[in-house]
Amino acid sequence: MPHTEGRRSRVAVVTGGASGIGEAVCRHLAARGHRVAVLDLDGDGADRVAKALRADGAEALAAAADVTDRPALGAAFAEIRSALGPTEILVTSAGLVAFDRFEEITPERWDRLIDVNLTGTFNCCQMALPDMVAARWGRIVTISSSSAQRGSPEMAHYAAAKGGVIVLTKSLARAYAPHGITANSIPPSGIETPMQHRSQAEGNLPASATMAAAIPLGHLGTPDDIAAAAAFLASAEAGFITGQVLGVNGGSVL
Ligand code: NAP
Repeated sequence: MPHTEGRRSRVAVVTGGASGIGEAVCRHLAARGHRVAVLDLDGDGADRVAKALRADGAEALAAAADVTDRPALGAAFAEIRSALGPTEILVTSAGLVAFDRFEEITPERWDRLIDVNLTGTFNCCQMALPDMVAARWGRIVTISSSSAQRGSPEMAHYAAAKGGVIVLTKSLARAYAPHGITANSIPPSGIETPMQHRSQAEGNLPASATMAAAIPLGHLGTPDDIAAAAAFLASAEAGFITGQVLGVNGGSVL
C-alpha cells in the first residue's frame, strides 16, 4: 500500500545548506512541502537560500551556526523549534575537505578535520534526536564520502572522519530503530559543487573531463543527484530502509 503519510509536511534541518549538495537538498525537501531550516556557517549564504525557498512558496528559515560550536548549535535548534516546529528530518551536509600527504598531517589539522566532519555530525544528530524520539518518527541522512569506502592517499584525515560518519550513522540506525527513526548515509563522489571546484582550482583534483573519464557513467554528478536520493531517504516511503550506505557516484565505487 502506498504511504499517504509521504505527503505530510515535516520540519527539516539541513546543515551545510548554503552551498552545493546541502543547498540542493534544501530545494528538494522544500519542493516536497517540508519546512526547511538552512543551517550553515555562512549566514549570508543561508539567508540567500532561505529567501529563495520562500520566494518559491516554501516555509524556510536561515540559521547561522558552526556545527562544531555546541552552544551556538543548541541555540539554532531551539530557534528552529520555536519558528518551524520540532526537527523531524536532519540532513548533515556541512563538511570540510583537505588534501595533505600523510606524513605532513599535523595533530591540529587532524583534529580540525575530525571536528568539523565527524564531531559536527555527532553534535547535530544529538541535537535533533530528542525531537524525533518524542515524535516517534525521524529521518537522518548523513553525507559522508566515497573516500571512506575506498581510502584516499592524500585525505587520510578526511576519509577517517567520513568513515566515522558512516559507522556513526549505522550505530544510530540500530539505536533508534525502536523509536521509528531511520539513519542512512550517502557517500558522494565527483559532484560538481563549490567545494569540488575549489579543490580543482588548488590543483588537488584533476579537471572535470579527466574525472568524468574515470566514472563508469562517463560524467560527473550534480548536487541534484545527491539531493534526490537524500529526499527519498527522508521520505515516509523509505521507512524500511535504515543503516544503509547508498552510493550515488555514477558507478565509480561498486
Ligand atoms: P560545499 O559546496 O563547500 O558546501 C559545504 C557547506 O558546509 C558550505 O556552505 C560550508 O560553509 C558549510 N560548512 C563548512 N564547515 C561548516 C561548519 N563547521 N559548520 C556549518 N557549516 C559548515 O561542499 P559540497 O561539495 O556541497 O559538500 C557537501 C558535503 O558532501 C560535505 O560534507 C562533503 O564532504 C561531502 N562530499 C562532497 C563531494 C563532492 O564531490 N562534492 C564528495 C564527497 C563528499 P563555508 O563555505 O562558509 O565553509
